[in-house]
Amino acid sequence: PPPQVPQDPSKKTIVILGTGWGSVSLLKKLDTENYNVIVISPRNYFLFTPLLPSCTTGQIEHRSIMEPIRTICRSKKGAVTFYEAEASSVDVEKKVVKIHDNSDIRGATIETEVAYDMLVVGVGAENATFGIPGVRENSCFLKEIGDAQQIRKKIMDCVETAAFKDQPASEIDRLLHMVVVGGGPTGVEFAGELRDFFEDDIRKLVPEIADRFRVTLIEALPNVLPMFSKQLIEYTESTFKEEEIAIHTKTMVKKVTDKAVEAEVSKADGTKERVIFPYGLLVWATGNTLRPLVRDMMASIPAQKDSRRGLAVNEYLVVQGARDIWAVGDCAVAGYAPTAQVASQEGNFLARLFNNMARTQELEDRIQSLSSNLNLKPGVDVPAVSKEIEDAERQLRRVKDIKPFHYTHQGSLAYIGSEKAVADVAWFNGNFASGGTMTYFFWRSAYLSMVFSTRNRLLVINDWVKSKVFGRDISRE
Ligand code: FAD
Ligand code: NAD
Repeated sequence: PPPQVPQDPSKKTIVILGTGWGSVSLLKKLDTENYNVIVISPRNYFLFTPLLPSCTTGQIEHRSIMEPIRTICRSKKGAVTFYEAEASSVDVEKKVVKIHDNSDIRGATIETEVAYDMLVVGVGAENATFGIPGVRENSCFLKEIGDAQQIRKKIMDCVETAAFKDQPASEIDRLLHMVVVGGGPTGVEFAGELRDFFEDDIRKLVPEIADRFRVTLIEALPNVLPMFSKQLIEYTESTFKEEEIAIHTKTMVKKVTDKAVEAEVSKADGTKERVIFPYGLLVWATGNTLRPLVRDMMASIPAQKDSRRGLAVNEYLVVQGARDIWAVGDCAVAGYAPTAQVASQEGNFLARLFNNMARTQELEDRIQSLSSNLNLKPGVDVPAVSKEIEDAERQLRRVKDIKPFHYTHQGSLAYIGSEKAVADVAWFNGNFASGGTMTYFFWRSAYLSMVFSTRNRLLVINDWVKSKVFGRDISRE
């Protein structure tokens, strides 16, 4: 790695909040020699979320999709500092971020402030529960590594408890009923992975309970995967039927208790019916809501008062109504879906923008210094210096001509179990929809190529081979 460089007071300080898709894409492409860079996040790693559903069953080990942020910071030139902390508030007038250490081990300083010249907010989003009673207390989410580990442990806990001596039949049925709420890609991919786990491994290793295992997916809308084309929605629903994953659409969960989910089904005749789903494991995947930091920032900036889903940004990702603040990813509202694809393109765009801003400053300084030479210094080669100024001005015009952010949708991909995937891929000027085993190989290679580091890529391949040859590890940690 390049030598560690102290912060340079003559350079501007960029503070980047978060170590997710948006922030890390920015950091990777940013010419960090031009700035003092400070990265702040409660997570000292980047998480490759597309393979997170595979971690819930041990198909992929969690460390294979985590990339330490310090490895990335140390590979960069210039002053790049990381603080493992959570930003609790931003003072947009004073240009400071208040941060606090919320880890288990704390030193004498728990809370402090970091000043910025430029701030990038890439803190992502939280799990939405819509205030439905019992959700937070009783369900597992699927957003972070800890969530996937908790699910993996709970699946095996349900299996082992169901296989316990003298367990009543009704209790075995409840424990082995795995309920997923939310038919977006997170819920669908998780349900598929879960079914694979049972068919490939648990059925062989714990045969006495194998026939009692059930997966149910509950979705409030009339179909699952609303962002996919109709043909792929139908393909997913028919594949789930073959896999015996029960889909309950037009079913809105209203309440959750420790052993059952209460939902309301909208029937064709317009009436509603209350249904109870007893469960052993409940995974809640109903999308995103605002983080408190983002909500507070929106409340403190008058121009954000009409925004609901996050920080409203302009076409250069500048937070509307704020000075020197940009936002990327799930916490920003730029008119796109909250996906890794969007967040990473936004991060890359900001890196280009900031690299250009630094280059602009450099060229302006150069033009100014050349011009003063021209006017003040005796014996200057006037034609040569004038030519240099002209060249610099031409470069400056080119550098200053930054086009606004433009998102290029490369397509949507989702794994649906039984080594099948669905893909809606942008193809020349049209769209190409496909589903099946070939698409699954495409899904695997696409995600493998997207994994940021070679180390992680090798670990993921190793996990795939290992679970294919030896089966998943069903020990409960
Ligand atoms: P995140 O990646 O969530 O990162 C947010 C960062 O901010 C984290 O490091 C967090 O620790 C940090 N943070 C939180 N609070 C604070 C704070 N107060 N101060 C400082 N830092 C903070 N999208 C796709 O395009 N394709 C997929 O296949 C896909 N699969 C997915 C699978 C799953 C299971 C999930 C949950 C999501 C998936 N997504 C996928 C969506 C994608 O992960 C998100 O859109 C993406 O992570 C958003 O990036 P982000 O940088 O905005 O936020
Ligand atoms: P989502 O917002 O896409 O889907 C949530 C679903 O939950 C919705 O269909 C909604 O109707 C349903 N829902 C909400 N409340 C409900 C209730 N009370 N009862 C029953 N159903 C209810 O959420 P997600 O799947 O977590 O995805 C979040 C974002 O991450 C999306 O932008 C998605 O595209 C992206 N993502 C992409 C992939 C992929 O590309 N493979 C995978 C995971 C996530």
